[in-house]
Amino acid sequence: MYPTAVSAPMRNYRGRFAPSPSGPLHFGSLVAAVGSFLDAKINQGKWLVRIEDIDTTRIVKGADSDILHTLERFALHWDEEVVYQTQRLNLYQSYVDSLLSKQLVYGCRCTRKQIKAAGGLYLGHCKHLNHNIEHGAIRLMQCHATNQFTDLIQGQINIDDALAKEDYLIKRSDGLFAYQLVVVIDDIEQQINRVVRGADLINPTARQISLFKQFDNAVPQYAHLPLAVAEPGFKLSKQNHAQSIANQHPQQTLMQALAFLGLPTPPQLLDLTTEQMIGWATEHFSLSRVPKVAEIQI
Ligand SMILES: [Zn+2]
Repeated sequence: MYPTAVSAPMRNYRGRFAPSPSGPLHFGSLVAAVGSFLDAKINQGKWLVRIEDIDTTRIVKGADSDILHTLERFALHWDEEVVYQTQRLNLYQSYVDSLLSKQLVYGCRCTRKQIKAAGGLYLGHCKHLNHNIEHGAIRLMQCHATNQFTDLIQGQINIDDALAKEDYLIKRSDGLFAYQLVVVIDDIEQQINRVVRGADLINPTARQISLFKQFDNAVPQYAHLPLAVAEPGFKLSKQNHAQSIANQHPQQTLMQALAFLGLPTPPQLLDLTTEQMIGWATEHFSLSRVPKVAEIQI
């Protein structure tokens, strides 16, 4: 019905969708799920699901199974077992220990308020103070500052030099591992070689790339999809009570997600099951069709 984009599939593609279980799936996260799924499948790759529950202060009970059910309803079937970050704390600690043995980390007692008062950027105040690292926050000495990268959708991304050089937290003062650390360890362990996700995570990507280098690991390719926003600058999120898609007509919602990703949406698609719609989309999706913008108002 429409020409299929022709490009050689990436070999041994491994991608993932990594929602945090802080509420039900909303339209913005569905777009990320569909986009990452279709890109994996058009490359004959694997699509994994990881529940990013490392920040236990934000977990909503039952949200994980709710998200997984919703993915199944939209015919987004994952390969391999679902991974939960809270079940891998020993793994994360082993990576921290390896940094520790190389003397690349230090304890930090600065409060967010103090850092903000000093201009917002952490300038290494605790670097030579030898704080005990058994308790409190831990920072990594930045040895692989990355201030630019090429995104498969958004093009060249430049990051502020001072921010790129900042020693950043890998463990928070409340004892939780920092998101930046665990997301990279997970991607390394799951051998993810392409990350397709929402553009709200575009700036932290440079820091994640520096961590891949720190751990001497190949850096995945990145493709950041436009973010669904309610109004410019305000993404749909669980925090601002974006409507759950659980009770919406799945075909219609899926059709909107496909259109958002730049796919043609012939009306007869609505007569298909979600399974058939996803099958159709798998043959027509291409990253090159995705609008090259950071956000789209819906
Ligand atoms: Zn400090």
